[in-house]
Amino acid sequence: TMKLDVNCLRYLSKDDFRVLTAVEMGMRNHEIVPAELVDRIAGLKHGGTYKVLKNLLKHKLVHHDSSKYDGFRLTYLGYDFLAIKTLVNRGVFSAVGRQIGVGKESDIFEVAAEDGTILVMKLHRLGRVSFRAVKSKRDYLKHRNSYNWLYLSRLAALKEFAFMKALGEHGFPVPDALDCNRHCVVMSLVQGYPLVQVKELQNPDEVLETIVGLVVRLAEHGLIHCDFNEFNIMIDDNEKVTMIDFPQMVSVSHRNAKMYFDRDVECVYKFFAKRFNLSYQEDRHEFNRTEDDDADEEDEEEEDGRPSFSSIAKSASFLDKELAASGFTRKDQEDIDRFIEGGTEEEEDTMSSDDEEPKEQGQTHTEADDSVFQNLDLLNLEDKNISSANSNAGQNTTDGL
Ligand code: ADP
Ligand code: MG
Repeated sequence: TMKLDVNCLRYLSKDDFRVLTAVEMGMRNHEIVPAELVDRIAGLKHGGTYKVLKNLLKHKLVHHDSSKYDGFRLTYLGYDFLAIKTLVNRGVFSAVGRQIGVGKESDIFEVAAEDGTILVMKLHRLGRVSFRAVKSKRDYLKHRNSYNWLYLSRLAALKEFAFMKALGEHGFPVPDALDCNRHCVVMSLVQGYPLVQVKELQNPDEVLETIVGLVVRLAEHGLIHCDFNEFNIMIDDNEKVTMIDFPQMVSVSHRNAKMYFDRDVECVYKFFAKRFNLSYQEDRHEFNRTEDDDADEEDEEEEDGRPSFSSIAKSASFLDKELAASGFTRKDQEDIDRFIEGGTEEEEDTMSSDDEEPKEQGQTHTEADDSVFQNLDLLNLEDKNISSANSNAGQNTTDGL
């Protein structure tokens, strides 16, 4: 089980962070960053960089690779610390608590704000289980050095943050999107449980209708969730529904949009049928159809009262402005869709059966010792020195994405 021991953060000096940041910057153009380049970017005196690298290595914040040349790359932990430090410095939270979830491509922790409010920090790990997908994209990756897990995880976080924010502003029941840095999204804590853990509902019909209604409303706004299942739907004690997990959302203009939409709907119906013993043969749901759409008749009628994609999906440009406002551009969209899409399509057949467990990863855990928040407010870490190191190297800082 990966425990995020942020205590280590406290013992890292400014120079440590400066060098760690230098490694990160080098990774834009190098999978393994030559030690001399790290040294040049960090700009520490008297070969100080090498001593610091040793320390970072000891704490597993960087990985040493000398197969081709003497070089380093960030580990997930190193990247985690850079994001956490930035968010702590911004005052978003000041303590890290227990891990509340291990998703396929994320680790989720409780964090606490200065005033004690418990929030959720989601660290994206794109590429952790999708090595097959990464492999299949190798040709593509070769031409674009920046397409590494750092870049993809950052993009996934940015996409999730942008969508969560925009959806929230449009009245969808999602967590409040609070901040985002690198591969890390901070959001409000949803009081409740993933639907998969819910054994009983007072009003299963209503909840089902609400949930299917959300899929439909998303499509009306030009979007498909694409991973709409009992793990990504939260239910609270009042049976209020909140949806989470957005990095894989696509536009209704996507060429596989109808398939994704039907899959989302199917998934929900199936789960409700199985878990709550509901049968929907005669249960008709009325959905608002777009008034002026008589051209799209080629799609068959909804069977057993289920919503049909072509009668709903309308505009593909929804949210563009809002997404851009969060810094998530069209190009980002294309980049990440290209990657995620390649992954899902290929993994479809095999995913469920040979769900490879990543080696370094364990299960969700809730041991008592994890519930203690590790306070970070003792950290007095300054960004200024690091950004000046960055400008020395003639590159932008990666903060403020
Ligand atoms: P993944 O993309 O890895 O599936 P999710 O965003 O679905 O990650 O989160 C994984 C799990 O973490 C969820 O099933 C849920 O139990 C928990 N979780 C995620 N976000 C929140 C939140 N805002 N509030 C409460 N629990 C959350
Ligand atoms: Mg999920």
